[in-house]
Formats: sequence, structure tokens, C-alpha cells
Amino acid sequence: MGVMETLAPNGDAINFPIEEGQFVVPVGIEAEMVDSIDRGGTRIYSWPKAIVDLYHDEIVRRLYREQHFLFLLGLLMCLATVAIDVIFNPAMVKEGVTLRVLGVAPLTILGLYAGARGWTHLLAFCVGAAPIAFIAVIVHLAVHLPPDIAPRYLLATTLLVGLANIMLPYSLRGLVIFDVTALLVTAAMLTLNGIATLAYHADTVFIFILVAAATLPIAARFEKFRQNNFLLTLRARISSRELLKANRALIKLSKTDPLTGIPNRRCFEHEFDTSIIAPGERGRAADQIGLMMIDLDHFKAFNDAHGHQAGDSCLKLVAHSLVDIFDEVGGIVARYGGEEFIAAVRMRDSAAINATAEDVRQIVASVLTPVSQSDRSLVTASIGVGIAPASAMLAREELIEMADAALYSGKDGGRNRVEVVEAEAAFSIRP
Ligand code: GH3
Ligand code: MG
Ligand code: MG
Repeated sequence: MGVMETLAPNGDAINFPIEEGQFVVPVGIEAEMVDSIDRGGTRIYSWPKAIVDLYHDEIVRRLYREQHFLFLLGLLMCLATVAIDVIFNPAMVKEGVTLRVLGVAPLTILGLYAGARGWTHLLAFCVGAAPIAFIAVIVHLAVHLPPDIAPRYLLATTLLVGLANIMLPYSLRGLVIFDVTALLVTAAMLTLNGIATLAYHADTVFIFILVAAATLPIAARFEKFRQNNFLLTLRARISSRELLKANRALIKLSKTDPLTGIPNRRCFEHEFDTSIIAPGERGRAADQIGLMMIDLDHFKAFNDAHGHQAGDSCLKLVAHSLVDIFDEVGGIVARYGGEEFIAAVRMRDSAAINATAEDVRQIVASVLTPVSQSDRSLVTASIGVGIAPASAMLAREELIEMADAALYSGKDGGRNRVEVVEAEAAFSIRP
């Protein structure tokens, strides 16, 4: 059983098991390949090879799906016909039972075993060999019957071939091989009893050929239906795979800041709630949560001095440095807007959060942005940090408010500095 990936409404990938009869589209099979096949006309020999391979896998899966039913039905039919021996051929009941048990039953059991072990070739062989063995048993019994009853037995073989053509999970070619083998076995066993026996039963052999020839076109139609059904399912699967891809790209876009390529504010909000507020086993109840507003200093002046493009490059370089730092400490960061970034960490104590903010300040101050062919320039950032114990369950907005307040005092205090507002202090200054 396979697994199929899809998206939850929040954009998370979820895997669910594929039900029987469904299949995963392998990479490399594209919609155009399926569309190039005319379902009314194109023969399977002209299909793209990858699709033919997938179809054959599908036939194998069908073989596995149907094996229990086929073998058990076949075995039941085979044993039930002992009743016919009792009526028409009492003298040979013992021999008939022995032949069935020794000739047909082992092939059935072997087939079930092969199916359970996943041995496709042996399974496919047994699915055909068991009815042929049964036909051989019927023909053997028939040639020992009085000439007036024998044809009734032999007619049963034609019935079996007709049923097999409609029920066996073979391709048309497989069915032709099955029919020819069954016919050869029947003819050979009749001939073993003398060519006169074959001549005597020529009419039954003729009916046999007629039934085979009449049911093969039905089997061919079934095969065509199966092929078309397969192509339609394949096309639907490819469409849903493409939708999934487009959906994933859209979700990624909706979470990404277009200039810097790092997460945007919307993504930050989602990540903050999942990996900072509720980090699962990684988090401890005594942790502190730190939210940082990181604002580049005098960035308007930077743009004025070096141009907007240099400003954009600077924002990208700073953004990626920030991603590196916060990845390293297990935090999250996003572009909040303009020349402002927002970040959050969950750490053991506020000292660790302060130290991280100070590292961030120093790293931003070391980012060298190329501003002309020969020149590079530095920017600094002021960082406002709001810190609260995780257990205080402060809303994101409250932490942002605290960080903002800290940022303003950092700007007022001369820029290129870290200012912190801790929850207790923040509450104490409130009336
Ligand atoms: P302060 O130290 O007080 O923060 O001064 P500042 O100049 O950084 O702040 P101000 O809010 O006055 O100006 C922000 C500037 O950031 C103005 C704008 O040109 C620039 N900016 C905002 N977004 C972008 C952007 O996407 N690209 C570029 N190149 N500049 C941007
Ligand atoms: Mg600024
Ligand atoms: Mg600003």
C-alpha cells in the first residue's frame, strides 16, 4: 500500500495511505504524455514506455487483488464437480477425486502462497495453470466415459475456457496463450487415446475453439475499458499532483517576503504560535520568550547616499544573516516591513535572550553591502526586545508592544543598541 501526500488547509503536508486500486504517479509521467494517447484509437504498444510500465504494474496489482477470489472459486468449482462424477461416472469417482486433489488443488494452494509472498510470475502462472489442470482432469475422465456421456464432460471444458477468458486478470495476449494451451492439452489428451478419439470428439473441439473465439473479443473490450479507465485515473492523478504543486508554490509565496526571500510577517505569526508558544517537547514551562524588533538605523540616509538598489541589496544581506543566526539558536525571523525585521526565541533565561540580541546587533553591524564597484558600506540596527516567561502566556501583540517600546528607547538612546523590556518591568510601569 502506498502513501499519497496532500495539503492540509493550513498548508502543512499530510500523508494518507492509498486505497487499493489507486496508484501513485511516478515522477517523469507528465500530463502531455497521457494527453497524447487517443483513448479510442492508440494501441498500448504505442503508449509512452513509462505509462505502459505503470499499466503493467497495475495489472500485477489487479492480479494480487483478485487472486483469493479466483483461486477459491476455482477450487470450489473443481471439488463441486465431483457430484457430476457420482451421477455419470461412479466407477471413476475415486480417481476423479485423487486427480483433482493431486493435480488442481496444489496449483491453487501454490498460487495463494505465491500471492502471499509477492511472487508475481508464479502467481500469474498458477492463475492459468490451475484451470488448465482442471481441464486436463475433465478430459481424462471424459475419455474413460461411455461415448454418449463423454461429450457432456468435454463441453464443460469449453465452459471453463469461456469463463476464464472473461474472469482471468490476464492481458489479451495472456488469454490467447491460455486458450491455445488449454486447446493443445485437450487435443493432446484426446489424441493419446488414439487419433480416432480426437476425430470422434472433433465437434467438441470445434465448439471449444468457437467459445474461445467468441469470448476473446469480449475480453479484448474489457481490456480496452481497463486501459481507458487506467488512463483516466492517471490523468486525474496527474492533475491533482499539479494542483498540489501549484498550491504548495502559492502557499510558499504567501509566506515569503518577495524582496529578501525570507519569511514574511504572516509566516512569522504562524511560526510564533507553533514553534515558539507551543514548541512541543523541546520547550520547558520555565522558558522565557523573547520577541525582537530589529530596525535598521538611518536607512533612509543609506538609500539617499547609495541608491535604492544598494538599499535592497543591504536588506537582502541583512535578512540572510538574520536567518543564519536565528536558525542557529532555534529561533524564527521574518521581514516585518520596510527596513524592519521581527524575530522570536524561546530560551532558558532572559540573559540568554539578551546575549542573542547583542550577537544580532554585532552581526548586522558587520554586514558589508557593496554600494559601488569599489566600495562597501555598513549599516547598524537598533533592537528592541520584549521578554516574558512562557508561562505568562502573553499574546504576541503584547510582546510586540513591549519590543516596540524598547526599540523606541533604543533609537532615542543613540541607535545601534539593544534595549529590553521584561514582562514584570513592563507591567510595573503600567498604571
Ligand atoms: P531610523 O534610524 O529612525 O529607523 O531611521 P530610518 O531612516 O531607518 O527610518 P525611516 O522610517 O525614516 O525610513 C525608513 C527607510 O527605509 C525609508 C525607506 O526608503 C527605506 N525602505 C523601506 N523599505 C525599503 C525597501 O524595500 N528597499 C529600500 N531600498 N529601502 C526601503
Ligand atoms: Mg530604520
Ligand atoms: Mg523603521
